[in-house]
Amino acid sequence: MSGFPEFIYYDDELFVESVPLKQIAEKFGTPCYVYSRSALTKAYQEFDTAFVNRDHLICFAVKANSNIAILNLFAQLGSGFDIVSGGELQRVLKAGGDPGKTVFSGVGKSIYEMRMALEENILCFNVESEAELIALNKIAKDMDKLAPVSLRINPDVDAKTHPYISTGLKENKFGIPAREAERIYKSAHLYPNIRFIGLDCHIGSQLTELEPFTQTSKKMLHLLDSLQAQNLEIEHLDLGGGLGIRYNEEILPSISDYVSALCINTHQIKQRLLIEPGRSLVGNAGILLTRIEYLKHTPARNFAIVDAAMNDLMRPALYDAYHEILPVHKNSGEIKDYQIVGPVCETGDFLGHDRRIGLINGDLLAIMSAGAYGMSMSSNYNSRPRAAEIMVDKDTIHIIRQRETIDQLFSNEKILS
Ligand SMILES: *Cc1c(COP(=O)(O)O)cnc(C)c1O
Repeated sequence: MSGFPEFIYYDDELFVESVPLKQIAEKFGTPCYVYSRSALTKAYQEFDTAFVNRDHLICFAVKANSNIAILNLFAQLGSGFDIVSGGELQRVLKAGGDPGKTVFSGVGKSIYEMRMALEENILCFNVESEAELIALNKIAKDMDKLAPVSLRINPDVDAKTHPYISTGLKENKFGIPAREAERIYKSAHLYPNIRFIGLDCHIGSQLTELEPFTQTSKKMLHLLDSLQAQNLEIEHLDLGGGLGIRYNEEILPSISDYVSALCINTHQIKQRLLIEPGRSLVGNAGILLTRIEYLKHTPARNFAIVDAAMNDLMRPALYDAYHEILPVHKNSGEIKDYQIVGPVCETGDFLGHDRRIGLINGDLLAIMSAGAYGMSMSSNYNSRPRAAEIMVDKDTIHIIRQRETIDQLFSNEKILS
């Protein structure tokens, strides 16, 4: 058992659904990202069914994985989207997503991005400051439109996660303190081209406990209460994303336990519930497939140098994140402690430290739990073309992004004439 239902060993070979990973590597080369359609679908359906009869909308956080085939799959399942840029809005449209189910988050929306989103009639702007609200009101006025808005509340709750992905503390750049938000909602008449329709929050990512979510929903309900007491009509409550996945030995609430907890915490209100899950929908549905270029044994350590690097999967270098690493073919070389590293010229370029594994040159490795914040955070550092992406559906292999070519890397550059 690998612990990942769609990535399973048969005999000693690791498969994704009904396809041996080895076959994908041979056909499309490495490094490449491989996703399981079944795992993506099951994760979405677990969220969806856990709401039972509650009026809800799941808005997939596009930044976790923005491949248009994945967005299209979620759109077909009925998903909405949480975007943080005009580029992500274009992707949602290209993928056949519904702008009427799309919310726009982020602290620094440009005028150009707001205009595009207004033109497309998105469901809601999650506004993160008074300055942004003033700008949006003006743009909406120029376009003779009403901009639908939720204020993003900063509930000052500790998400107990990595500091780089904690967003709901008062020290963070995100959201508006509840007090201030209440004042803004009450002064709605100052913004004639804004329609205040919701309340929003998002406290961070890779949360492993339900308690911070519970604490947050209590604070949000409290604010909702006081707005309603002043006859402000709020249509939806957006509780953000943030549910974690198992990378290592973390013990996590299931998707359905998480949704049930949100429903229980908000049972007394009639508003539609929105959530913005990213990682928990895609994280364990994808892997990064890589091949060993060299084994290098030094007096201090054993290195397995692979053809994937920090530019392909940034999480280990950025957050010191752990990803499980499985051999695609078990029981090959002598078991040793390996440092699994890439070819990039940085000591921070590692995918795993101190892994006990048997390896020989040319072996394939699967970097697990790479479906979220993997490809979407990749770069061309060291002039490395970005990896291909593959989606497997039972025994069928679909290429959903061609490997980038070297020519594409500098096609926008120009030598002085
Ligand atoms: C990143 C982000 C999400 C998704 O977070 P996950 O931890 O991937 O679920 C949701 N909402 C907002 C505003 C975000 O910035």
